[in-house]
Amino acid sequence: MRVFNSLSRRVEELKPLAENTVRLYTCGPTVYNFAHIGNFRAYAFEDILRRVIQFDGMKVRQVMNLTDVDDKTIKGANAAGVPLTDYTRTYKDAFFADLRKLNIQPAEVYPAATDHIPEMIALVSKLMEKGIAYQSEDGSVYFKVREFPGYGKLAHIDFDSQRTGLRCAADEYDKENVGDFALWKAWEPSDGPVGWDSPWGRGRPGWHIECSAMSMKYLGETFDLHTGGIDNLFPHHENEIAQAEAATGKEFVRTWMHCAHLRVNGEKMSKSLGNFYTLRDLIEKGYSGREIRYVLINAHYRSGLNFAFDALEDARKSLARIDECVSKLESLAGSVAPAAEPPEFAKRRLAEFTEAVNDDLNLPKGFAALFELVRETNAFLHGAATSVEGAAILGVFRRLDEVLGVIFFGRAVAAEIPADIQALLDRRAAARKERNWAESDRLRDEIAAKGWQVKDSKEGQTCTRK
Ligand code: AMP
Ligand code: ZN
Repeated sequence: MRVFNSLSRRVEELKPLAENTVRLYTCGPTVYNFAHIGNFRAYAFEDILRRVIQFDGMKVRQVMNLTDVDDKTIKGANAAGVPLTDYTRTYKDAFFADLRKLNIQPAEVYPAATDHIPEMIALVSKLMEKGIAYQSEDGSVYFKVREFPGYGKLAHIDFDSQRTGLRCAADEYDKENVGDFALWKAWEPSDGPVGWDSPWGRGRPGWHIECSAMSMKYLGETFDLHTGGIDNLFPHHENEIAQAEAATGKEFVRTWMHCAHLRVNGEKMSKSLGNFYTLRDLIEKGYSGREIRYVLINAHYRSGLNFAFDALEDARKSLARIDECVSKLESLAGSVAPAAEPPEFAKRRLAEFTEAVNDDLNLPKGFAALFELVRETNAFLHGAATSVEGAAILGVFRRLDEVLGVIFFGRAVAAEIPADIQALLDRRAAARKERNWAESDRLRDEIAAKGWQVKDSKEGQTCTRK
């Protein structure tokens, strides 16, 4: 598997450091609001990444933090007049529900920042002992950026040449240098009841220290892979490197990967610009989690992706084509297991798909292989295909879906049927039980008029989008 490493700016082989397990840290949500689908572009990219790692026969240990203390969560909780934990609980729960709707595989660990304050204090203490951190007059603790020689190596910025320009008058700033960032923030009245005691007085951790402390706790001082959206690269990830490496003297992370932004009319989708959709917004408009997932993963993760409703409509049509092909295969295969070698064309498409996803997660190419497979399968099924062949081709679709996570197999198709169609199906099943064929046919037409097709078999009725 080859991936683009933001640190070296080269495409490199991804080889786990130990035990055939890729140790992966993915920056998670700040739980002060519902995540928008721009955030989910990042989480969907990370889901594809972990799925490809597993597709290749490696294991993955993924840690995703939940930022449940920062300016925004404190402001929200205090404005609502509820304890911070109550306030963030709502959005943590919503986040997990959204991940499930998008068929994003759960990480192995979801550490919350507020559960790891002692680890963060220990890390800040270590940096203080090493003399690379200092407490300012306001009580906050800062990292001395100019004393960490590698600062800027991820963002590829040469801070050495800019140092003098960055220095500022001490009476204007609490910090010694404008580039210095907070490790520990002193309590302020606007923090209200939120705060923890520390060697530097009451306060709370900075955002960057959270990720360094929790990633090293769960993945070790040096681990394989760290990801996030491109906006995380600087300063967040740069600061994570500085804190961790200054404390341990060891390399922090081997490979860094960043996904490009989801945009709306050319601008980054973000809460502050107000141009965002949450997953809930789109589901209320009648789109399914599967359709949204399809749109999010169907572009290369390093290319910009412009959000548009047309893309969701296209996703619906493309998924219907896949579903139709898969249900034909399922009818043909019956209960035959995919034991035989698939036909040549299916093997070729599987090889193309494998090559594409291993080439820095080239999903557009992967999808192209899938649609060639659909086209060729449809042609193949026009001939005298056997159930053994059907089962073998179905096995290829299943293999592709280990990465894609968008194909419905078997009864899962029923899971996406809207409630009004399901009600008609139930009435039709009842009519058929009473052998009321006229009513059964009438209901089939009513369902057809709503864009769904019912088919009857020994097992009962199946329903697909027309
Ligand atoms: P935040 O909650 O803002 O810290 O963001 C959580 C994750 O979503 C981070 O990895 C961000 O880089 C990512 N992210 C935020 N906005 C976008 C966007 N418009 N497109 C893609 N990723 C984003
Ligand atoms: Zn982070």
